[in-house]
Amino acid sequence: MHSGRSRDRTGIVSLVVAIIALIGAVVAVPSLTPTPLRDLVGLGPHRLAPTLNPHPDTSYAFMAHQAGDPSAPVGYDPCTTIDVQVNLAGAPPDGPSLVRRAIARVEGATGLRFHLAGTTDRRPQWTNEFLPTVLGRVQASPVLVSWATAGQVHQLAGNVAGIGGSVSVSEGGGTRWYVTGGITLDADYYAELDKSTDGRPEELAILLHEFGHVVGLAHVHDDGELMNADNVGRLDYGPGDLSGLAKIGAIACR
Ligand SMILES: [Zn+2]
Repeated sequence: MHSGRSRDRTGIVSLVVAIIALIGAVVAVPSLTPTPLRDLVGLGPHRLAPTLNPHPDTSYAFMAHQAGDPSAPVGYDPCTTIDVQVNLAGAPPDGPSLVRRAIARVEGATGLRFHLAGTTDRRPQWTNEFLPTVLGRVQASPVLVSWATAGQVHQLAGNVAGIGGSVSVSEGGGTRWYVTGGITLDADYYAELDKSTDGRPEELAILLHEFGHVVGLAHVHDDGELMNADNVGRLDYGPGDLSGLAKIGAIACR
C-alpha cells in the first residue's frame, strides 16, 4: 500500500523504484533444435554487484555482462526491432502515450529500435522477487508493459512503483542475449500521480527507469542518475545512464 509513502508537493518523493534482476535461460541453439526451452535455470539471477565507475559522468552498471568480460553488457540484438505490447488494464488514461514517449527516449539513448505492437491481455509473470517466468519460449517475444496493484503483483508492495527486467538466453554457451522482458507498474500509484498536477513527469520517469532495466541497466548509487534505486527527483536519464545506454545499444549484432 502507499499509505506509508512519504510524499510532498515539491517532487521529493521517497520512492523505491523497481528492483528486478534477471534470469538466464539456458537453451539449445534455437536454429538447430525446435525444442524451445531446454532448461530454465532457476538459480537466481545473473546478478552482479554493480560495477560503479568512480567518475560521476560515467556512473552506470549493467544487469549482466558476457562471460569473462565485464565491459560487454548483455543486451538486445541491436539489429532487430524489439516489439512492445501494452496491457492497458489499470493503466492511467495516458498510458499509451507514456509508453510511446518512453520508447522514443530509450531509442534515442540507445539506438535500439522498438515497435509498439498493439495491446494485449497478457502480463509479465514475476514468479518471485527476481525471476520473470518464461514459459517454453525462447524466441524473441514482445516486451510486455502492464499495470497491476500490489494485491495482484506482490513485488509492488511497499514503496515500489514498478518492476522491470529482461530474460536472456545464450546459444551454445556463447553470447548471451535478451529475448523478452516485462514491466509492471503500480496501478494505484499511477492513479495517484495521474490526479496530481505535477505527477505526470514522474509517470514517465518511472517508465524510463524500468525500460532502463529492460534494456540492461542495473541500479547505481548515484543521485545524479535515474537508475538510482530510489526516486531522488530525477525525471530523465542522467549522464551515467546515457553512457550505459549508449554502450548497450552499441553491442555487436547477433
Ligand atoms: Zn530499478
